[in-house]
Amino acid sequence: MSERTQVAIIGAGPAGLLLGQLLHRHGIDAVILEARSRDYVEARIRAGLLEQGTIETLREAGVGERMDAEGIVHGGIYLCFDHALHHIPMRELTNGRTMMIYGQTEVVKDLVAARLEAGLPLLFECEDVALDGLEHDEPLVRYRHEGAEHELRCEIVGGCDGFHGICRPTIPADALSVWGREYPYGWLGILADVAPSTDELIYAYSDRGFALHSMRSHTRSRLYVQVDPDDDIANWSDDRIWSELHQRLASDGWELREGEVLDKGITPMRSFVAAPMRYRSLMLAGDAAHIVPPTGAKGLNLAVADVTVLADALVAHFASGSDTGLDEYSDRCLTRVWRAEHFSWFMTTMLHLDPQDDAFGRELQRSQLRYVTRSTAASTSLAENYVGLPLEQTAPPAVTR
Ligand SMILES: Cc1cc2nc3c(=O)[nH]c(=O)nc-3n(C[C@H](O)[C@H](O)[C@H](O)COP(=O)(O)OP(=O)(O)OC[C@H]3O[C@@H](n4cnc5c(N)ncnc54)[C@H](O)[C@@H]3O)c2cc1C
Repeated sequence: MSERTQVAIIGAGPAGLLLGQLLHRHGIDAVILEARSRDYVEARIRAGLLEQGTIETLREAGVGERMDAEGIVHGGIYLCFDHALHHIPMRELTNGRTMMIYGQTEVVKDLVAARLEAGLPLLFECEDVALDGLEHDEPLVRYRHEGAEHELRCEIVGGCDGFHGICRPTIPADALSVWGREYPYGWLGILADVAPSTDELIYAYSDRGFALHSMRSHTRSRLYVQVDPDDDIANWSDDRIWSELHQRLASDGWELREGEVLDKGITPMRSFVAAPMRYRSLMLAGDAAHIVPPTGAKGLNLAVADVTVLADALVAHFASGSDTGLDEYSDRCLTRVWRAEHFSWFMTTMLHLDPQDDAFGRELQRSQLRYVTRSTAASTSLAENYVGLPLEQTAPPAVTR
């Protein structure tokens, strides 16, 4: 079967779904192809913290109603070390900017519902998705759906298929530069059926390793402990996980509440950037182009920022034939991406125990923690990165002569 659209979007994660929604609001046709089932995509537990810019984009895209009703606004975080909680008042430090706790699962459900209610093409369980014709700027997407072979012709491909997708590997190796770092630790995360024991996130540095107390709603807590990235989740009984959480999050006058563990898994941590984010008519966005360790809560927010820039560029392309936005797309995104890469690396290395590190390294970490909690300059720097720098502040610098 042969079909045609303006933009073929590969992947129905936050990046692909939001790109489809933003294009729809400007009357641009798109088809979204997703390898997994709707149930799988909507249940995949991942990010949960939205930056102010992400919140505003979701509202402008017409999918902010449930987020505004159910999301929990946060104005800061706690850093826990030396048995004490130290609050970083980000709202005050950043002229009123805030974050919101609203699960990626919920963002995805809202975007899927909006697309299906509008009767727009979103195909789940597509098999053998492959790109062709990029060399000649005549992109063709082949895929199999419900047993039938399809060919989708388009002008632009949105490569939103995550780190393990097919879009980035389709680009010739000599047209792409990549940078990356693997960390010697991973996160064991649990979703627990218990009200959060804290009003805002707690990032804990301890001699036993990092821990994070996060949340997904007023009744569900999300907690993490640093583990070996190759560890087997079978080694971690619920009792062992709670015991580690109690020890690592211990601080004077504060109690951790336990609850039934609904989900648990281990995720390795990695930094990765591929550039440029454009190859001819293929535009990479989100995790397809870059990965950050989750300590800075940046992955989902970067994906949203990418497709916001991309949607503007595509609107100009289809409305007036101007390709300036598409030409500048990669540079505009990468400036922001590298800022988030640095911040995520900074938070990660400040808070985790590197098994190769020595007592000197630990004292440097403690010194840095004291500095970012006691110096207004240092806590302001942490705060403005954490709540998310406005898009224009991460644009490439203007050329000066
Ligand atoms: C444990 C964990 C915790 C995290 N915490 C945070 C956080 O607190 N804050 C934050 O901002 N970020 C966080 N992240 C990162 C965030 O989840 C990702 O950055 C985000 O999902 C990126 O969205 P995306 O749409 O680019 O990619 P994805 O969400 O990976 O979506 C890509 C989609 O493409 C589909 N796909 C793949 N291959 C194909 C193919 N061949 N054909 C068709 N479809 C395909 C996939 O099934 C998937 O649905 C976390 C990630 C993890 C793993």
